[in-house]
Amino acid sequence: MEKYEAVIGLEVHVQLKTNTKMFTRIPYHYGEAPNTLVDEVVLALPGTLPVLNKAAILKTIEVGSVFGCKIARKTKWDRKNYFYPDAPKNYQISQYDQPLCAGGFVEIELEGPARNIQGKHRKVALNRIHLEEDVGKLTHFTDESWIDYNRAGTPLIEIVSEPDMHSSAEAFAYLKSLEMHLKFIGASDCDMEKGQMRCDANVSIRPVGANYLGTKVELKNLNSISGVCNGIEHEIKRQIAMVEAGERIEQETRRWDAEKNESTSMRSKEDAHDYRYFTDPDLCPIVLSEELIAEQVAKIPELPFAKQERYLHDLQLPYTITSVICFEKPLSDFFEKAMSVYPKNPQAIANWIANDLLREMSNGTSSWEQLKITPPMIAELVQLIDDQILSKQSAKEVFLEMYTSGQSPKQIVKDKGLEMKVDRDALRKLCEEVVAEFPKPVAEFRAGKEKAINVLKGQMMKKTQGKAPVDVIEQLLLEVLKS
Ligand code: ADP
Ligand code: MG
Repeated sequence: MEKYEAVIGLEVHVQLKTNTKMFTRIPYHYGEAPNTLVDEVVLALPGTLPVLNKAAILKTIEVGSVFGCKIARKTKWDRKNYFYPDAPKNYQISQYDQPLCAGGFVEIELEGPARNIQGKHRKVALNRIHLEEDVGKLTHFTDESWIDYNRAGTPLIEIVSEPDMHSSAEAFAYLKSLEMHLKFIGASDCDMEKGQMRCDANVSIRPVGANYLGTKVELKNLNSISGVCNGIEHEIKRQIAMVEAGERIEQETRRWDAEKNESTSMRSKEDAHDYRYFTDPDLCPIVLSEELIAEQVAKIPELPFAKQERYLHDLQLPYTITSVICFEKPLSDFFEKAMSVYPKNPQAIANWIANDLLREMSNGTSSWEQLKITPPMIAELVQLIDDQILSKQSAKEVFLEMYTSGQSPKQIVKDKGLEMKVDRDALRKLCEEVVAEFPKPVAEFRAGKEKAINVLKGQMMKKTQGKAPVDVIEQLLLEVLKS
């Protein structure tokens, strides 16, 4: 039996995908030459004033609604004051006591008992989501530090969870779910390597069964989702070892070093009052109308987990396929468009998309924008097979041709002469020939060994070069065998 329970709360910063920065018209893209995406407002030159980016507010309302938060009808801006070169104004515009979104939860899926079996779902409680501006990026060298203000002023949401997770596996599932939902609604690309999503982890331990919270340690510099998990696991072990040795855990911030797999103390805890928060006098409070909030809520598409439940139950798709096509917006859009053209065989459409299409896309460098195959083409391909105009073997060839040329399957089938010939009389004659040529499986079949028919089917496939529909062959073979 474990003696201790870990308690984890995550603070996740996510850059919003807006055209311009939070309080000025300059854009932000990752990877530009340093200090080129800056203007007077970003650099806080004297006399400049912030002007609010409405799109960032609207996106944050959408995000809050996705996670079931209460959206504030009135919200405001606060200055978080600190002196450090990453903030040109010496303060960051943030939200302190009136965040845009409060409460809510993130649904997570824990790893299932096997890859193809759905895992348990649970809800992790959120404390708040507020909007702020990002700061610049410092790079430290041995004897100097460089600053890049490109990122400064980019809209940033901070998603603060309650201390409601208890293992690194839950933290992992939580980050995956955040990433999936935020990408799905186009709020952010959430690329941790590009700093679009950053996570600080708060970790404490307590005796199993206790209902109080232990002293927390905040971990910083967790640069990847696996980094977050390793950092948390290491911290839980470190704290247990300390308590077991009779030591007290001090509230502090520690820096995770992924290479050395260890953390070092950065500073003892700073308090909110250290930041001398106060309402920003340059910006008006925001009052949000019911109509505006309703408009944003109406924009939210069916979300991945709800979609997955629907596909599992209504369409009877296998779990592994649903977890591919429901979790990414372009994929599920593609699937649904194909379905709307040909609703009869969702399983086959899903298979072509999740297996063949994704395989080809990952082999090459094709993106959704460059894709030559359209959803109606997949629908047409599946229908050609279902209507027994195209054999499953030839369909693979048609698919590849369709993928590279963007021609319609019907056209390819015509050009390559791949249409299956279903001349029942001729096929019946061939069946008779096969039955005469292979007495052994025929005798076995007649003696009750039904599987023996497969040998005859194989011979028929050979004779017809795979161009005749298997079920017609089977039907005719049975007729001949029983006559
Ligand atoms: P602070 O005032 O230090 O910023 P907050 O109460 O605002 O602390 O919480 C910051 C983050 O730390 C939240 O994500 C919260 O869930 C988490 N947290 C708070 N207390 C604990 C604790 N005892 N153990 C683990 N996480 C905690
Ligand atoms: Mg706090």
